Amino acid sequence: MDSTDTKACHACAEEIKREARVCPRCRQWQRKWSFFNPALTFPICFAFVGALIIATLMAAKGAMAPKPTFEAYRDDVFVTSSSMHFGELRSNRTVVVVGTLTNRSPVTWKNLEVDIRFFNSAGEMADAHSQNTRLVVLGHDEIAFRVETKGLRPRSDYAKHEVAVRHAINAKAWPGW
Ligand SMILES: [Zn+2]
Repeated sequence: MDSTDTKACHACAEEIKREARVCPRCRQWQRKWSFFNPALTFPICFAFVGALIIATLMAAKGAMAPKPTFEAYRDDVFVTSSSMHFGELRSNRTVVVVGTLTNRSPVTWKNLEVDIRFFNSAGEMADAHSQNTRLVVLGHDEIAFRVETKGLRPRSDYAKHEVAVRHAINAKAWPGW
């Protein structure tokens, strides 16, 4: 055997083939960085499984942590503009309120519950309408809304209106009600 084809095992110093991955005498792995070297595979697997467990625990903790409710942010979600429009739909008089609302909080809110109060020219509340919308507003964003209701009262009872968001659900809350 040519000496260039052989080398000394770095564990037992036995003359072995240069290409040998495992020493035939002492079974020592010759290449440190082989994927199959158990000395390397074990710590890598161990670190990987450990990282996986930590990531899972952190994700679970994040999902379980109580999310802020709308009550704490009520003042941060407000109607910036709105107007009333009157129409007719299948012989029903309708009142449509359209407008925009702003979310000053960083939280994404969904299922906005809108409360509209209608006042006559004397300033007395004459009608009201509340609606659970499917609206979603992102944190620090503005959306347009449109709420329609039957105008059952005389037209003069719809002289003024007020819109407010009474309730909403934190979109990141789980299970989400
Ligand atoms: Zn050896």
